[in-house]
Order: sequence, then C-alpha cells, then structure tokens
Amino acid sequence: MAKRSGATDDLSRYGRLAEYNRKRRFDVTPEPPGRAGKKKPTRALEFVVQKHRASHLHYDFRIEHEGVMLSWAVAKGPSPDPSVRRLAMMTEPHPMDYNDFEGVIPEGEYGGGTVMIWDRGTWEPESPDVNKALAKGDLKMRLHGKKMKGSWVLVRMRDRQWLLIKHRDQHASATLDLTLEKPKSVVSRRSMVGIARAAGASARQLEQAAGADPPRSTAKPA
Ligand code: MN
Repeated sequence: MAKRSGATDDLSRYGRLAEYNRKRRFDVTPEPPGRAGKKKPTRALEFVVQKHRASHLHYDFRIEHEGVMLSWAVAKGPSPDPSVRRLAMMTEPHPMDYNDFEGVIPEGEYGGGTVMIWDRGTWEPESPDVNKALAKGDLKMRLHGKKMKGSWVLVRMRDRQWLLIKHRDQHASATLDLTLEKPKSVVSRRSMVGIARAAGASARQLEQAAGADPPRSTAKPA
C-alpha cells in the first residue's frame, strides 16, 4: 500500500503496537503485552471506552481497525449532545486484549492509576474506507455500546488533536450527562474506587480513584 501523508503516516510511525510495548514493563504492570489481532475479522468490530485516572482523569476511546485498537484520550469523556465537541488526543494503538483490562496500573509505571471498562460494544464505519477517512481526518462511525449509541464522528483539527462529536439522531441528548449519570463499569458494575480497592491500590491511588467517581447525589441507578 502506498504511503500517505497525515494520519496514515502517524499510524505507520507507531509500528502498530511498538509504541505500546515500548512504554510498558510487562513484569510490573497487569496490562497485557501487545500482540496484533486479525486484520479482517469475520465478527463485528469491537469498541471500548476505558475511564482512566492517570495523572489526569480521561476516557480512552478505542475502536478496532486492522487488528489493533486505534485510541484517543478524551479528557472530559464523550457527550451525547451534538452541540458539544470533545477534544480527543490520538494516542498509541492498543492491543485488542486491552479491551478486557480493568484494574490498577502500579504507581510509577506508564499511565499509573485506575482503569475502568466504562463502555463496550461493537462499531461500524459509516465512512466507506476507514484508512482514507483517517488520512482525511473525518471518520464517521456507528456505535453499539451500552452508553455510546448511534452515529458519531471523529474530526482531526491538527496533528494528534481530534474532536469527538455526536451526530443528531434518536440517541442524541442535550440533557443527559453520560459521565455523571452512567459512571459505573459496564462489565463489573464497580465504581473507580471499588476497582482500586479490589486491586489493593496505594492510599494515594485510592484517593484519586474516589475523586474520579461522581458525587453520590448525581449518580442515578444503572
Ligand atoms: Mn489512558
């Protein structure tokens, strides 16, 4: 395949999972080592959103493409309000095994802190050619998650800076705050502090995880 400028160059520079592997010590962190999956699976494509209290709280939005999870860190988390544009910083692609990771990355390790599987499901590109859409910086997609549903778009501003925006459809909402009203893990129903406590996190990490959970009064039942 011919080399292209823009996003495709970015992706090839990552060597798929080379950057992911280089940043981590797998004898210390509970995260999985990077192995690429099938480029063209026969099943539906996976997507996952991991709420991550590292040095700052963010939501890692990941979509399966050619055997790896393309990843963007969304500082404020996704919004179902089409008038809200959330900054999404493209980060290194992650292995598909990472979609099962919920736990605590030890202090001092890359991304140290609590990770929750905040949403998970399948996705379909609405742009006909995903590589072309990435190179152009305009990727339309349909998400089938428990929290993120319907049509969304990722639009590149410059370099690694993208925006994650909800399209107007029956799943759009100007009043629902997904991050506040749906704060629990979709796989374990745990809170951030619940995950940290179960993993035997340090006192500092426990405090940070608790700070990443919404105040009790705003959280509604699942
Ligand atoms: Mn992260």
